[in-house]
Amino acid sequence: EAGRLLFAGPVTFLKGVVDMSGLPPADRLEVCFAGRSNVGKSSLINALTGRKALARASNTPGRTQEINYFTLGDSRYLVDLPGYGFAEAPKPVVARWQELMRSYLAGRVTLRRVFLLIDARHGPKAVDGEIMTLLDRSAVTFQAVLTKADKPNARDLAAAIEATKTMLGKHPAAFPEIVVTSSETGRGLATLRAIVAELS
Ligand code: GDP
Repeated sequence: EAGRLLFAGPVTFLKGVVDMSGLPPADRLEVCFAGRSNVGKSSLINALTGRKALARASNTPGRTQEINYFTLGDSRYLVDLPGYGFAEAPKPVVARWQELMRSYLAGRVTLRRVFLLIDARHGPKAVDGEIMTLLDRSAVTFQAVLTKADKPNARDLAAAIEATKTMLGKHPAAFPEIVVTSSETGRGLATLRAIVAELS
């Protein structure tokens, strides 16, 4: 199917971007992945692309925050946003992150969807709601992706899905379908690849 074809093609790290002037030309559609640090974002990107160490877990508080661009075949960019929500982050780092996010989300015409990753063990946190509000204001469609779905038992997973639904209901920019994934078992990966491939 389309998703398999797209992700079977070359996936290459293009560049790390620290400000708007560093963005590559808006010459292809792009999707981006966002989430609290440690949510499993690097693992998911690596699992989706079948590359073991394409995206690094790089969310050390205080570290330079980069938007990482990857090329996906010859028709898409895959964008890895810096993780958010770590408690120990110094204020200036958080402020810089917010400013970069605001300008990126508002100004990127080729951005088709933000996949907002939520840990299936915990469900959405207040800080995820804050990001959703930012996405509402930027009028960027976002879709919730539960990660680490292999971890919780069925009851806790159902509760996390329910809590996510409730939060999405408060955000006009939310795409209603929630994708449940595990980088460990491969659950949901084909669905997510197909969604990325079919965006136009
Ligand atoms: P990031 O900070 O969002 O990039 O998170 P990582 O991808 O580095 O993952 C954080 C931790 O969660 C690591 O210890 C991973 O091994 C673990 N992890 C990530 N995805 C999964 C998953 O699908 N299942 C399980 N069981 N653990 C996962």
